Amino acid sequence: MLTNEYLKRVYDGLAQRNANEPEFLQAVREVLESIQPVVEKHPEYEKAGLIERLVEPERIITFRVPWVDDQGKVQVNRGYRVQFNSAIGPYKGGLRFHPSVNQGILKFLGFEQTFKNSLTTLPMGGGKGGSDFDPHGKSDMEVMRFCQSFMTELYRHIGQFVDCPAGDIGVGGREVGYMFGQYKRLTNSFQGGMLTGKGLTFGGSLARTEATGYGLCYFTAEALKCMRNDSLEGKTVVISGSGNVAIYAVQKVSQLGGKVLACSDTHGWVEDPDGIDYTVLEHVYNKKRSGHDKGVTLAMYVDEKPNAVWHEGDGRGVWQLPCDIALPCARENTLLLEDAQALVANGCKVVGEGANMPTTIEATTYFQENGVAFMPGKAANAGGVLVSGLEMSQNAEHLSWTFEEVDGKLEQLMRGMFHNVDDTAKEYGQEGNFVMGANIAGFLKVADAMLAQGVC
Ligand code: NDP
Repeated sequence: MLTNEYLKRVYDGLAQRNANEPEFLQAVREVLESIQPVVEKHPEYEKAGLIERLVEPERIITFRVPWVDDQGKVQVNRGYRVQFNSAIGPYKGGLRFHPSVNQGILKFLGFEQTFKNSLTTLPMGGGKGGSDFDPHGKSDMEVMRFCQSFMTELYRHIGQFVDCPAGDIGVGGREVGYMFGQYKRLTNSFQGGMLTGKGLTFGGSLARTEATGYGLCYFTAEALKCMRNDSLEGKTVVISGSGNVAIYAVQKVSQLGGKVLACSDTHGWVEDPDGIDYTVLEHVYNKKRSGHDKGVTLAMYVDEKPNAVWHEGDGRGVWQLPCDIALPCARENTLLLEDAQALVANGCKVVGEGANMPTTIEATTYFQENGVAFMPGKAANAGGVLVSGLEMSQNAEHLSWTFEEVDGKLEQLMRGMFHNVDDTAKEYGQEGNFVMGANIAGFLKVADAMLAQGVC
């Protein structure tokens, strides 16, 4: 609950001005609630109007994206870039192509990204962008024409010292490649660090594709080790989603000795008594994105794994299974209070958010009140942007590190991040509250930088 008068005043004003942006307000409220003890200790924040500035994006760019489909018909989508906070480095955060994209969702994601990037310890500010374009079922040529048109407007607002986007839902290596090509053409410059998630032949980093899912598992494994002297060995895990984050979380869980029982997509969920096979998920994922095979769903998994069972309908069925660990890796607000109640009743002890804000506030509170170790996405899924930061370092050095080097740094930094979050929670008398630990630790660095830079 918000009890601090200053924070309440800031939040109420924000809620009035942004009443139609519930996800943004949800994300801000969670952070403001967490940082109350810090703000109370530091009256200089109020004096500097720091929180009012922190919750207002530095800049929002909105633009038209016209493109021509394969039938020769003109289509128009809306493009965005939210440049949220550049106190600790150039704006950095993914681009999302999905029909649900709107300004409120991107403001929530850009706000979260600011703290996530701060937690990585790398010098990156927070941003997010995208479009309501849906790449599902589009041909390669349609995706290319869309990406080129999108970049034709975006290019003037980004650059390696200004704003460095990456992928997110609906934006993988293919889309990044098309956008990078168009940026290069428009600016006549090869700026590797301007866009991350690039192909390996033009400055991409090994292990970037796997980074978010792997990082989630390293973070979770460190939590198990530190809190319970335990590991992922022999643990049962359920996962939502079956996209980039989910696939490599499945792979790493099994490498670390655990077993993934089920995963999902927007059409339903699949359970496999032999443990979900990430190679089959990769196959389905690539088929979905190829555009040649419209109507592909995760149901295809059982074609290759006849022991598995497909449940058509709501993917939330995964939360009904007894398990030790749940890793929501789909989208915001897809794990609700009833799901949390079912998970706790069935013995789940650890939840790690692979997606951004997949757990509603009510479900998060329920987990925390029932002894579940809850790892917020802001920290637990930071592996993707972390390796994006490492991609920028390699580009700046004109070097390519090996898979093992990148993966090793990822593991070390994710395990270190867990300790930063854990120690911060303890310092503020909130042992085991990783939401507070992550929010406070992420906030402190940004707040210090903002104070040092004066009113701007
Ligand atoms: P993808 O587009 O690759 O995958 C998303 C997956 O979630 C798809 O399988 C999709 O199914 C499924 N999905 C979406 N909504 C639902 C739902 N309501 N129920 C069940 N399944 C659903 O995205 P990513 O894996 O890249 O991203 C997932 C989340 O992780 C997002 O919140 C993103 O912001 C976050 N994230 C991603 C990072 C990255 O490096 N990729 C980094 C940090 C965070 P379908 O195919 O049917 O649409």
